[in-house]
Amino acid sequence: MFATDRRAFLKAAVAGTVVSALEIPKVASAADPGPTKASPGYYSFVLGEFQITMLCDGVCFLPTNSLATNVKPEEKKPYFDAHYLAPEMVRLQASPLLIDTGQKRILVDTGLTSGTDWAAHAGRLNKTLAAAGIAADSISMVVLTHCHPDHIGGLVADPAKQFPNADLVLSETELDLWNSPDAASKLPKWAAESAPAVQKVFAALGDRVHPIKGGADVETGIAALDTAGHTQGHISLLVGSGSEQLLITGDAVTNIHFAFDHPEWQIMWDHDPDKGAKTRRALLDRAANDRLLVAGYHYPFPGVGHVVKEGMGFRWLPTDWVWDS
Ligand SMILES: [Zn+2]
Repeated sequence: MFATDRRAFLKAAVAGTVVSALEIPKVASAADPGPTKASPGYYSFVLGEFQITMLCDGVCFLPTNSLATNVKPEEKKPYFDAHYLAPEMVRLQASPLLIDTGQKRILVDTGLTSGTDWAAHAGRLNKTLAAAGIAADSISMVVLTHCHPDHIGGLVADPAKQFPNADLVLSETELDLWNSPDAASKLPKWAAESAPAVQKVFAALGDRVHPIKGGADVETGIAALDTAGHTQGHISLLVGSGSEQLLITGDAVTNIHFAFDHPEWQIMWDHDPDKGAKTRRALLDRAANDRLLVAGYHYPFPGVGHVVKEGMGFRWLPTDWVWDS
């Protein structure tokens, strides 16, 4: 279309007179209503005898000034510009996942509370589970990597009934941290605000809460790794079945850009930013050295891939989608 034609077209479009010229044939019918507004948002693949399903909970946003907090603006700005990371708010996916061992269905993290004002487009876990054909009452265990509101949020509204047949597993250190009467003094101020909601979840679940020590097995084939730093009791998971392994990083590695290129760049959301940085590098080193398949919580969906060493840091290599499950 020539420029003048385009101008005329736009003028007519604004006036509402081009609709008939653009009549798009209708293909939808009552039996086939066409695409729905929201996509299902799940992705399944096989890991040995297990089936893994990545579940999209939606997206949330973090202020850019809460990231790379120990980096000079003259270094941070060009990096963020080059990686299309917006100057004010950075978008993050939230992706819980389900491990189906054949005997048990284990949900790892639960997304955000639906209707959260800072994440209007998250809290979709229930819809996503339904779309994937996974009934909430078929889940026998929920594992929390940690208790930040974007991970425990799916349990907050109705903790006892959300997953009525599931035990809750998390690290003993994490449980003690958030359940402590003086939790506020042990948490950063922004995190302390959500401590009462977290405590209500534990109270509602009662003896269904099972604390474990870092390094213990959550279940046969699923080991908890102590990856403290993001929180004092943060765990990642190493899942093994047959000859295959999957590393679930949780928030030890929260993005695929500077967390990989510059693991030493700190974020406000790590309770201990120094330790968080050390843990991040150690975990990425292990993933690269052991050629582990990795699932990330805040990576672009579905967030499954590998880690390779590059320069002084690492690079994220997303896997191709597979259709073998
Ligand atoms: Zn998170």
